[in-house]
Amino acid sequence: RDLRAMEMAGDDDAVELAKRHLVQPWPYAGSVGNEARALIGEGDGIYITDVTGKRLIDGPAGMWCINVGHRREELARVMYDQAMMLSYNTPWYTMNAPSAELAKRIADHAPGDLSHTFFTTGGSSAVETALRFMQFYNNVRGRPEKKLILSRGGAYHGSTYLSASLNGRPRDRDWMDGADDLVVKLSSPDPFRRPKGIDIAAFTDFLVDQFRDTVARVGPEKIGAFVGEPVQASGGVVVPPDGYLKRIREICRDNDILYISDEVVTGFGRLGHVFASGDAFGIDPDMITFAKGVTSGYFPLGGVIISERLLQEMRRSNHPDALFGHGLTYTSHPIGCAVALKNLDILEDGVLAHTREVAPYFQARLKTLEELPLVGEVRGMGLMGCVECVADRESKDPLQLDKDVGKRIDAHCHELGLLVRPLINMCVMSPPLIITRAQIDDMVAILREGISRTMDDLRKEGVWQG
Ligand code: PLP
Repeated sequence: RDLRAMEMAGDDDAVELAKRHLVQPWPYAGSVGNEARALIGEGDGIYITDVTGKRLIDGPAGMWCINVGHRREELARVMYDQAMMLSYNTPWYTMNAPSAELAKRIADHAPGDLSHTFFTTGGSSAVETALRFMQFYNNVRGRPEKKLILSRGGAYHGSTYLSASLNGRPRDRDWMDGADDLVVKLSSPDPFRRPKGIDIAAFTDFLVDQFRDTVARVGPEKIGAFVGEPVQASGGVVVPPDGYLKRIREICRDNDILYISDEVVTGFGRLGHVFASGDAFGIDPDMITFAKGVTSGYFPLGGVIISERLLQEMRRSNHPDALFGHGLTYTSHPIGCAVALKNLDILEDGVLAHTREVAPYFQARLKTLEELPLVGEVRGMGLMGCVECVADRESKDPLQLDKDVGKRIDAHCHELGLLVRPLINMCVMSPPLIITRAQIDDMVAILREGISRTMDDLRKEGVWQG
């Protein structure tokens, strides 16, 4: 459908060139290097326009990143001005002012004693940096055996080798290698898919006991870090049960395990705060990773914020000559840091407050979709939401007969003017944070119609009879 539409619009050049020369992310073997996707021409506010001229609400805000919206002139201008002033400097033995200023502003917002930031090129490199720092830290402390990493089902932490090894979503790792000897997996804190017959409080105890038992079984002297998203984003917007993160944080503290909070999605406004770890969940991690919303997607930038305590321990260690052999050409990129500073101004000047104000309305409107029989649960927090489709609410079967239900809903919604992020049997919604109540109404109305049309299709095909 998209291909035909693009060809009609005279953009067959881009389609042909992509099919001949572009390898897109997350391809299947059967179409790798020979694939075209919906060609997007423009963005403005919460909308994007495809090359046929169809305007769509950008439901996923790019990839959870266009937090302050498309076509912000002040962001474009600051990038231009910075490029004309200083487009790049080597971070190996020089530095620039925007990165120092941004690190200070980030420290002001960060919980606990998180004081210093190492800037990276995105989320994967942020997680990778945090893990390599944990390895280095334990080497310098004379604990080279303390390196295992705890991660959970449903997690997504990136696409570099070590960060990807932590991933726990279905299918991601079926055909991919990983550093499995370094990772210990735990259950996803997903209340919707908790074991049958137990309530949320018992489920929380189960998760905490599993964590504690795993630490005892594997040995705290072998475990370097726990990595977790406050809300598992790409795993389907899994909001953990109340108190769970605090209890995990305590176990980590008691066992000298670094707690790395992956805020690549939740940071910079998605939950109404610059960082959710402290402000939404009351925890003070040892490190926070961030990316995406830090520049609202206008420039590839990420980073890891590190606790003052860890840095002091390193400085006072017996190995002052030990080298943290880690750095990226684009660490502390001046253009990325300059645009992040302006983006933070915009967030502080009203967008964070707007997000907190509009989020309950967004959640309440989305929740009405539970009236539809194909919808098993609608859940979310802040401006992150997920509509999970199931065969029926009793079995919670994610429609194995028809794994593409998310894609089917997305196709209908595209016709109707909404881009959806389909995830197997789920639709994830994370619009730009500037979305208004009226635009939320439009978004939910389209989603409702898209799901209704999908239900009709499934019934006609005899795949589902709900
Ligand atoms: N961590 C989380 C929680 C993410 O959602 C993502 C990307 O979606 C990453 C890390 C990886 O970030 P990037 O794609 O910028 O490398």
